[in-house]
Amino acid sequence: MSGGDMAKPLLGHQSMEGDPSITPAAGRTIGVLGSGDFARSLAIRLVCSGFKVVVGSRNPKRKAGLFPSAAEVTFQAEAVKKTDVIFVAVFREHYSTLCDLADVLAGKILVDVSNNTEINHHKESNAEYLASLFPACTVVKGFNVVSAWTLQSGARDGNKQVLICSNNQEAKRTVAEIAQVMGFTPVDMGCMSSACEIENIPLRLLPAWKIPIFLALGLFLCFFTYNLVRQVIHPYIREQKNKFYKIPVEVVNTTLPCVAYVMLSLVYLPGVLAACSQLYYGTKYRRFPDWLDQWLQHRKQIGLLSFFCAALHAVYSLCLPMRRSHRYQLIETAVKQAVEKKMNIWVEEEVWRMEIYISVGIIALGLLSLLAITSLPSIANSLNWREFSFIQSTLGFIALVISTLHTLTYGWSRAFDENQYKFYLPPTYTLTLLVPCTVILAKVVFNLPCIQQRLLRIRRGWEKGRYVKFVLPSATGEYSSGETSSNV
Ligand code: NAP
Repeated sequence: MSGGDMAKPLLGHQSMEGDPSITPAAGRTIGVLGSGDFARSLAIRLVCSGFKVVVGSRNPKRKAGLFPSAAEVTFQAEAVKKTDVIFVAVFREHYSTLCDLADVLAGKILVDVSNNTEINHHKESNAEYLASLFPACTVVKGFNVVSAWTLQSGARDGNKQVLICSNNQEAKRTVAEIAQVMGFTPVDMGCMSSACEIENIPLRLLPAWKIPIFLALGLFLCFFTYNLVRQVIHPYIREQKNKFYKIPVEVVNTTLPCVAYVMLSLVYLPGVLAACSQLYYGTKYRRFPDWLDQWLQHRKQIGLLSFFCAALHAVYSLCLPMRRSHRYQLIETAVKQAVEKKMNIWVEEEVWRMEIYISVGIIALGLLSLLAITSLPSIANSLNWREFSFIQSTLGFIALVISTLHTLTYGWSRAFDENQYKFYLPPTYTLTLLVPCTVILAKVVFNLPCIQQRLLRIRRGWEKGRYVKFVLPSATGEYSSGETSSNV
């Protein structure tokens, strides 16, 4: 799993933290228009950060009790007169009601903190709309990605980034300075045309997870249907046996490991395809197709979903003996055994099969947990590149091999037993082996010295059909350079 989206900064824009042009701002007076949830949390945070706060409300008497005593709550016009920087903590639809304040607001900085309820809800962003209503003011978009809860709970306990944009550099710097004093990390998003993008950010629902979740659901549905046909529909049609009770636990529990195992192999398959492409074209400078690029970027989420399914499988498996159906079956077997006067039902091979596959399964789950934990940004950031790549790449691949052993020992010789072919459908485990075994085989092939060398050279910039300057280590360990045809 790669560091992925969570490890990289939220946006590829310039962080303003540590900007020498940003000077301490604590002590200055900040205005807040509105007395709702956001205004209240903002006022508390500003006061705690050493600012003087003046809140402008339509009904200051009623709202004053909701604010800290250090904050002054007064009428909107009064508040605006006392400060040059005003946070507009009012919904977009009420902006026009502030037009009476246009004269007192002239020349001041307005911070638009508003969000929409839908992505690209309006033609123009809220900030641009505010700027059009108050042309004599300087509008800065910012703080909308921070919730009222984050403002109150402190920057340590929530998203620390505050995205800021404006057409006026000076105003942007002033707001960035305030954000920094409040403990946030201001991120310069450029001019006002970025406001729309900033306003859409809080509305996006797990954008990096959509494809992996659909993939997991699709696999779950396919394997669930396959298992349902084999475990429930087949006995019902062929032997009129009612096995529908198996659906909630047994069928789900045979489906989950299939999804977990195939998803784990899908974390490593795009790497194999990328290597094939590089070997085929003899260069690393050729762009991968978009679908492969997307796939590579979603490996972390696919891996985490694989872990999630594996963890659920472990819990379901632990609960199997608790079920009433299991108890009835045990008693039934015991009675049958007594009637048939069988003293020993111990099958050595079955005992060993189960001991091995449970043990191997636990090890695989342990490794998957390690992969999942180290993919968390806070943990990943504490590892150097080599440690991260060892865990995610080497240990991840070992987890795939161990999961394959778990599947093989679980299946044992069932693939060769014709009774296991229900409606001519092979046992599920044989299907799940397909992709993981291809990945393992490909990795083994890539590790053959002749292929590994070529791949390494390509990844260091060598290209097929081009003359390149290269550096070779000599027998003494020193490096000598020369010209060669890269086709050699
Ligand atoms: P809210 O609790 O409903 O407060 C809105 C405030 O707007 C009211 O308390 C009211 O204060 C004031 N207001 C001024 N003119 C108004 C009018 N004509 N009609 C109704 N109210 C009027 O909303 P909020 O949650 O604080 O959100 C305020 C802004 O912050 C919104 O633009 C929202 O998108 C943004 N925001 C909120 C959060 C959050 O977590 N809540 C997060 C990010 C951004 P007075 O009665 O005192 O005038």
